[in-house]
Amino acid sequence: MSINQSGWRPAMTAAGDAAPSLTFTGNRALMLEEALIFEIGDSETTGVDLADTLVGEDRLAGLARATPIGLPGLSEPETVRHYTRLSRQNYAIDLGLFPLGSCTMKHNPRLNEKVARLPGFADVHPLAPVDTVQGALGVINELAVWLIKLTGMHGVAMSPKAGAHGELCGILCIKAALEKRGEGHRKVILVPESAHGTNPATAAFAGFTVEDIPATPDGRVDTDALKARLGPDVAAVMITNPNTCGLFERDLKAISDAVHAAGGYVYCDGANFNAIVGRVRPGDLGVDAMHINLHKTFSTPHGGGGPGSGPVVLSKALSPFGPLPFTARMADGHIQLIEEETAGDDHPDTFGRMTAFHGQMGMFTRALTYILSHGADGLKQVAEDAVLNANYVLRSLEDVLDAPFAGAGPCMHEALFSDANLADGFSTLDVAKGLIDEGFHPMTVYFPLVVHGAMLVEPTETESKAALDQFIGALRSVAERAKAGDPALKSAPHFAPRARLDETLAARKPVLVWKERPAA
Ligand SMILES: *Cc1c(COP(=O)(O)O)cnc(C)c1O
Repeated sequence: MSINQSGWRPAMTAAGDAAPSLTFTGNRALMLEEALIFEIGDSETTGVDLADTLVGEDRLAGLARATPIGLPGLSEPETVRHYTRLSRQNYAIDLGLFPLGSCTMKHNPRLNEKVARLPGFADVHPLAPVDTVQGALGVINELAVWLIKLTGMHGVAMSPKAGAHGELCGILCIKAALEKRGEGHRKVILVPESAHGTNPATAAFAGFTVEDIPATPDGRVDTDALKARLGPDVAAVMITNPNTCGLFERDLKAISDAVHAAGGYVYCDGANFNAIVGRVRPGDLGVDAMHINLHKTFSTPHGGGGPGSGPVVLSKALSPFGPLPFTARMADGHIQLIEEETAGDDHPDTFGRMTAFHGQMGMFTRALTYILSHGADGLKQVAEDAVLNANYVLRSLEDVLDAPFAGAGPCMHEALFSDANLADGFSTLDVAKGLIDEGFHPMTVYFPLVVHGAMLVEPTETESKAALDQFIGALRSVAERAKAGDPALKSAPHFAPRARLDETLAARKPVLVWKERPAA
């Protein structure tokens, strides 16, 4: 990195931003520019000072690296600063409201972290003898009992490691159950149009054919169309409740009865359980399998690819097909881990296993901490407050943003808006980018697909009225600019380190390997 003669170098400008920033460094106050680690470090230098190794016997059996590894050499402070600077360019739930609909980005109580870090939980090994880890297994078992109680179901598979993984587990249970009945020919899974993309992906991955079920004008599953499609080739329906339009599927019980009568199973996508936890038991609605995103409903940190956990609750009909291993409390209070070797003839129908070991221990610990610190009454209030907050957002903004289903009554845990009344040439993307300048992570955009230019806002219960008011004020201001056709909004964000990146190109042709830039 060199500076020109005058000692001033033209700083980086955000794409579309005509005004260069006027600082020598390119930094904007405490928002620091940061180059790639390969640009600041170089492979000729090293940050560590290792003594020459004694020449000994080569134990790499010809596998020794033939070419230099090419890592940039940086000192410890340089390395620490690099990653700390990058981390400051992240948005996080610990910085502010995270309105991503369908993601349930709620505050993760610090108590969760404290408990998860206790050595008896954090340092256990999955192969430790069962007698030495009774406490940790007890956590898994107690959480399982809570999940079964809260959902009114018969059993639970704890090991799936994310919502989508849980979907796969549930669908594999359904597949095994159909095969056992000699009805492996049922190959169709019905999925409503508004479903999360993981639903059809799961069904297809498990070898089923996906058929869409349309939505009604009020944003719910078209029950008549669904019932009309049922038949001897239908294996299951996958339905999200509350659905991704933020609405409760009131007909789910009637749908389940019809699906069962036609010989199929009901998979419920339970990612939105936060809106109904403690108030509705999916088991009462005839659900056969439902994943619970522990990392959404029961806090536990997520986002940025962090760990998830997606236990699947199962009906009596599907429980025998659930995966191994699982925990069971014996009559003497001892917790046993039911594995292949111990399962014997007691679990002949299990479809196999989803993971090598028990699942995400750290997430189990956090989720159980969250559940126990809230208690049954507290969990019910979580759902009520999440719904109240979403309705506050919906009613506060429906005069400025089109809210396609607002006329049909209250929403559940998320408020859905569309781009219908923005100025010509202005889109949902412009509103999202404008929100970044206001210091917020954008809401979920262009999902669900059934609403044109969808903006899905899920505030969760952890936001105060003051925080909601600030967010509502920001979104109102940006929406008004989009309605008035403010040209500056088209190039927003103006205050972020980078502005409009070509996200499609980045997704389709990601550059994941750094190459030395040709010398200038
Ligand atoms: C988050 C989500 C999923 C997928 O869950 P992951 O844990 O991200 O795999 C599935 N369906 C809906 C409706 C979701 O919101």
